[in-house]
Amino acid sequence: MSELLFKTPTPYPVIIENDLSRAQTFFAQVLKAAKRVAIVTDERVFSLYGNLPDSFLTGFSTFYFVIDSGEGGKSIDNYIKILTFLSDNGFCRDDAVIGFGGGVVGDISAFAASTYMRGIKYAALPTTILSMVDSSVGGKTAVDLQGVKNLVGTFYSPCGVYINAAFANTLPAREVDSGWGELIKYAFLSGDYTAREFSQKVFDADLVFWALSIKKNFVETDYFDKGERKKLNLGHTFAHAIESLSGFTVSHGAAVVKGIFKSLSFAVKHAGLNEKFYNSALALLTCKGHDITCPYSDNDLAPLICADKKSCGEDIDFITFNDVGKVVAIKTALNTLFD
Ligand code: NAD
Ligand code: MG
Repeated sequence: MSELLFKTPTPYPVIIENDLSRAQTFFAQVLKAAKRVAIVTDERVFSLYGNLPDSFLTGFSTFYFVIDSGEGGKSIDNYIKILTFLSDNGFCRDDAVIGFGGGVVGDISAFAASTYMRGIKYAALPTTILSMVDSSVGGKTAVDLQGVKNLVGTFYSPCGVYINAAFANTLPAREVDSGWGELIKYAFLSGDYTAREFSQKVFDADLVFWALSIKKNFVETDYFDKGERKKLNLGHTFAHAIESLSGFTVSHGAAVVKGIFKSLSFAVKHAGLNEKFYNSALALLTCKGHDITCPYSDNDLAPLICADKKSCGEDIDFITFNDVGKVVAIKTALNTLFD
């Protein structure tokens, strides 16, 4: 068992376990005076786990709201449906929302909680590797609009996050690979592991603790993502474009690995990245079997990166490596990415 306290403007505890043994005590503590709790989940998670949360949410009246699985579920329509559901069921300021699912469920349910009655309590119970090691902590909430990911959202800290790493046991291979993609990103940010050491890692609560300890430092230093926190976006400039071009058949984490490879290639060209680091970096990128090649041409990628950054013609903060392999943000003209 381990626990982290995120010291953000509103601090909150994150429990990291391999089971649900402490869930009852934890939710009783963080949800405090709530009488009603809305559990927002998706079809896939609901089909696997049903109303499992009832077993540890004793003493609360629970209400389940199930959205469609996948990125399409993170819509304004579903957001309004959640708000309407809360209102129809008489939720008031003391009541709470729990996001029980992956990053899609977490982002939309936290956004709904952050805006319903100007903000009611939100707790996260993540079920994908990606949501355990990334999206459930850090306070970013969102829905997509007009095909643009995360166009509408807020910064809103949860009152608590309970991570049961064992939820990952039911994930399909695609989602496991996606989670490892983000974990590889943390390995680059921390410099903690060689490829050989990392290839032997299994996914469990200890690994979540390691990843979240890294994210915690960035989030506490720069909660509103103005500077240092941007380094968490290593690989993401290209990843978002690759995901979009693939119609989301390439998972987020798989695209992040491809994006990190682009950052490495950029650093070789523009920062004189040394060959020793480059070779060990390639080994780390591929140590969990990810394909690092990008199936799209620069001509395909450029307009999407432009649109994503909403900054055509301007410089962007591109996350890349310096000559000795340290992760750095550098102001770069968009066309330099494709030199
Ligand atoms: P997801 O929520 O779509 O989940 C992936 C799939 O796995 C879905 O089909 C889901 O139904 C299924 N699933 C979830 N848990 C399962 C389980 N235990 N067993 C079997 N299947 C399960 O995707 P994700 O990768 O978790 O999250 C991606 C989303 O997170 C994106 O919308 C992204 O923008 C967002 N995100 C947000 C932040 C943030 O800081 N807020 C950070 C990273 C990503
Ligand atoms: Mg990511």
